[in-house]
Amino acid sequence: MTPVLSRRLFFGELMPGSRSEPFLLTGYGKNSTTGVATVTTFERAERFRRAVKGLAVAWGAALVSFFIPIAHLLLVPGFVLTGVFVFTKRTRARDVTESIHGTCPNCGHEQDFDSSSDWHLPRHLTCANCSRLLTASPKSTC
Ligand SMILES: [Zn+2]
Repeated sequence: MTPVLSRRLFFGELMPGSRSEPFLLTGYGKNSTTGVATVTTFERAERFRRAVKGLAVAWGAALVSFFIPIAHLLLVPGFVLTGVFVFTKRTRARDVTESIHGTCPNCGHEQDFDSSSDWHLPRHLTCANCSRLLTASPKSTC
């Protein structure tokens, strides 16, 4: 079960503070379809809280891996740097993508796209069925 799916099952259709963002999905041809992204907006205090939580998890892993002989030479600096990376990324992430759902305009396959980054348009998506590159753009400009 994916994290997004489990959160949906736990919190219902949308998490608190989430909204649906419709977008236009285009491929190589003239055909276009629409898709919907579920986006959660975090205010400054929430972003900082998420960032500290990510930093604590990574640095906790660094602390635990400190006691593993030889492997700690790579694990400790790796987790410390990961913590700094996660902290920086989460403090800047105002709109976080929870899920992206749409239909490929090339092959017609309905699917959930990779939603592992911040929400921004335009963005490139890859169809899981035909492996073609798709472009998601705002609905109002097209
Ligand atoms: Zn496709």
